[in-house]
Amino acid sequence: MSATPKSDFIRDIIAEDLASGKHQTTITRFPPEPNGYLHLGHAKSICLNFGIAQEHPGAKCHLRFDDTNPEKEETEYVESIKADVKWLGFDWGSDLYFASNYFEFFYDCAVHLIKNGLAYVDEESPEEIKLHRGNVQTPGTPSKFRERSVEENLEMFSAMRAGKFKEGEAVLRAKIGLTSSNMNMRDPVLYRIMHAHHHHTGNAWCIYPMYDFAHPLEDALEHITHSLCTLEFENHRPLYNWFIENCPVPSKPRQIEFARLSLTYTIMSKRKLLQLVNEGHVSGWDDPRLPTISGIRRRGYPAVAVRDFCKHIGITKYNGTTDVALLEHEIRNHLNSAASRRMAVLDPLKVIIENFSEEPTANLVVSNHPQDESFGDRSVSFSSEIFIEREDFQEIPEKKFFRLGPERYVRLRGGPIIQCTGLDKNAAGEVTQIRVKLLPDTTGKDSPEGVVCKAAIHWVDATTAVDAEVRLYDRLFTVEDPDAAEGGFLSVLNPESVKTVVAKVEASLLNESAGYSCQFERNGYFITDTKDHVPGKKAVFNRTVALKDSWGKGK
Ligand code: ATP
Ligand code: MG
Repeated sequence: MSATPKSDFIRDIIAEDLASGKHQTTITRFPPEPNGYLHLGHAKSICLNFGIAQEHPGAKCHLRFDDTNPEKEETEYVESIKADVKWLGFDWGSDLYFASNYFEFFYDCAVHLIKNGLAYVDEESPEEIKLHRGNVQTPGTPSKFRERSVEENLEMFSAMRAGKFKEGEAVLRAKIGLTSSNMNMRDPVLYRIMHAHHHHTGNAWCIYPMYDFAHPLEDALEHITHSLCTLEFENHRPLYNWFIENCPVPSKPRQIEFARLSLTYTIMSKRKLLQLVNEGHVSGWDDPRLPTISGIRRRGYPAVAVRDFCKHIGITKYNGTTDVALLEHEIRNHLNSAASRRMAVLDPLKVIIENFSEEPTANLVVSNHPQDESFGDRSVSFSSEIFIEREDFQEIPEKKFFRLGPERYVRLRGGPIIQCTGLDKNAAGEVTQIRVKLLPDTTGKDSPEGVVCKAAIHWVDATTAVDAEVRLYDRLFTVEDPDAAEGGFLSVLNPESVKTVVAKVEASLLNESAGYSCQFERNGYFITDTKDHVPGKKAVFNRTVALKDSWGKGK
């Protein structure tokens, strides 16, 4: 039932490399930096890298934590990333790696470059280095430390490692040239000094490699065949290849870039997500409004729907923005066939059935999925008092409103037809309850002659219904491109991104376990909250997605 992956330029290259014998097998990697939780953009990369590994017998995908930067990394992130990859349906098997285990290898590579006259220790200040690098129009000028001897460089680099310098006092740079039109190639920094504690290596190191230097070495050491990254690394590729050519590496991986995922009405940068979390704009990394994997999981998005979404958007070389409606369509599509139907009234209006005769309650047999018999039926209690949705009654019905109004008929889902016979109001003139009579013997039958009944509405039995806290989630931002907002992304937060109501739900829902997903008929898809729902005690539901895309309507 899951969509088959379309081919794309990356899969084509991989197929060619296997056909030509360039590679006997394919090894990809997913290399997150453990400095935040994964989001839907990462899901695209995970589906690509792990997906390719699944498509070829013997192929593998490594999960590698790119933990070379000591400052921002935490164990909490490592654990959450593992859980998210697993939840998405992928498995790294025994191929779990930490780039920080390669520090000694990076160091050896740097020494190798120095010995070959391809790297030097520069004691210019970061500002001087920046200035002397020039710009696209102006070639750079050499640092006064550029022509140091190999011996002096070896000694200096060893002193850097030994902690003889303060931060910013020295860096190791590649000796490539200062005239390239590609700024990344102008004697890039390979190592900087950071007197920082590392979550894995502790205080063993005070020099840390730059991403551009470390990444190709990590790939090569792990015998990655195809190193897939997003387009912003395209003009880092010559540098990637330079390191592969000039360092003593055991294999020659190939970097290929693809377009990153961006979605409308959301942001996809870990830094900005962290800000939302830290400043309390959301309840945490797993807030169901966030595009984080833990957020969408709690929101009730099925993993298979996320995988299919990634397949449908495909892999290209062109950056663009994907309409979030496409993702929501995929979610509805899956839940429509997978979710059992239940009834819940989000905005209850009490209905008194004046001629109810089967005291005190009766049971109705209601289908759990009108399109799929395999879901079976359930027994739903029915009594002289029920709740219906307030919006299913209009005292003075508008044109084209076919539901309940004075004297009108409507069918109760799975039950009889009722006719409104009266209503009660409070002092403010608001309708507080309505009175109806039911037409006996109309359950499961066509309307009797002379009865105009054009709609069926959902309802719950007031005697047995339980209260549920229902969180109605909407888009987190009010504009399509929050990153482009003049006042910054925080200025376009949607103040109505969550609305909590106390709903009346079928009693059995109270006993469902956390993470139980169903459709509330006519309302949308909902899931019991994994943090706050307590089976048998407290029902808490999150709205996964409404039945239809109503964004913008009435706004
Ligand atoms: P962010 O920009 O959110 O901080 P990042 O690229 O710094 O993300 P990493 O942990 O370095 O985060 O990412 C791990 C992998 O996920 C990388 O290979 C990266 O290319 C990929 N990735 C990150 N964001 C996206 C995205 N929006 N679309 C596709 N792939 C992405
Ligand atoms: Mg990154």
